Amino acid sequence: MLCRRPLRNFIATAAKHWSQQNGVVTRRDLSVSTRCMSDTVGFIGLGNMGNHMAKNLINKGHKLLVFDVSQTATDGLRTAGAVVASCPAEVAAGAKSIVTMLPESQHVDAVYCGEKGIFSQVQDGSLLIDSSTIDPATSQGMALAAKGHNCVYVDAPVSGGVNAARDSVLTFMVGSPDESFERVKALLDCMGKNVVHCGAVGTGQAAKICNNMLLAISMIGVSETMNLGTRLGLDPKMLAKILNMSSGRCWSCDTYNPYPGVLEGVPSSNNYQGGFGTALMAKDLGLAQSAATGTKSAIPLGSLSHQIYRTMTNSGYAKKDFSSAFKFLQGEEQS
Ligand code: NAD
Repeated sequence: MLCRRPLRNFIATAAKHWSQQNGVVTRRDLSVSTRCMSDTVGFIGLGNMGNHMAKNLINKGHKLLVFDVSQTATDGLRTAGAVVASCPAEVAAGAKSIVTMLPESQHVDAVYCGEKGIFSQVQDGSLLIDSSTIDPATSQGMALAAKGHNCVYVDAPVSGGVNAARDSVLTFMVGSPDESFERVKALLDCMGKNVVHCGAVGTGQAAKICNNMLLAISMIGVSETMNLGTRLGLDPKMLAKILNMSSGRCWSCDTYNPYPGVLEGVPSSNNYQGGFGTALMAKDLGLAQSAATGTKSAIPLGSLSHQIYRTMTNSGYAKKDFSSAFKFLQGEEQS
């Protein structure tokens, strides 16, 4: 489907205006924008999670206009059929539905509010869905800013890991105005199997922070257990099998076991490459820590696991999957 003339004119005018203001959008960039269609979805942040999510949108028939600061990341999406933009502003000029999947609050702030950010070019009526795990207060600030630009921002962090992202079976925890939820769900259904409306903007992040605190604790628990059991002479696969049919069963054990070779296709069986970085887990526990301080909630195990993942982050484990807690507890040093 080719873009209708009014939209094409609008995009061209907006891009020209932006170009004149900033003096950096080239003719080639403009032609990329004008090729985009009304049903184009923008996607920014094509890392471990985002690259799978963006590809699933393509697989479900959407045209994708993408951006990432990493060329390796954008090359992968270009090969999959996406158009690559040169900055978030260009994505905003070419797509009225945009998904962002970025590491931390500061990256979300830069992508939305930066000089070449989404808000500098966002179109009236746009839907901005942020699936990054960030501070709920940042999400609420973004939603207010979006309102000022006549568009809607919602938080929709995910649970499920990279394999769930690849297989489009993620769980989305959505904080959005009631009237926007159906539109949000229609897009997120392309990338997940559960789309849950948690309440107003920020509540998706609240649910996500709680889930990840429990995940962080359970992964350390499974790592300790697998380490102790195998040192007692138990076969790791047999131990995992018993745990998975007993009261110790949990996702960290039956779906993402940290002991290498117990499960195929998980980071522990691939030298802890890919997956969910330890530094990102430490970040999520920092968010839980702030939330607990703000609500005067006791989280002794959450606090202890925060210390453990932070120590790992400073000991060479930052980019390894968080299930490398198992290696850390074994006392293995990283270079
Ligand atoms: P990642 O680090 O693999 O990917 C982030 C991507 O964002 C990278 O490609 C990076 O280049 C890009 N980026 C950074 N700054 C940018 C900017 N200014 N403009 C454009 N692109 C930029 O992270 P991930 O594992 O994909 O996680 C993304 C988010 O999802 C995080 O908030 C994380 O906590 C959350 N999350 C991750 C998992 C997981 O299993 N990996 C699971 C659930 C939630």
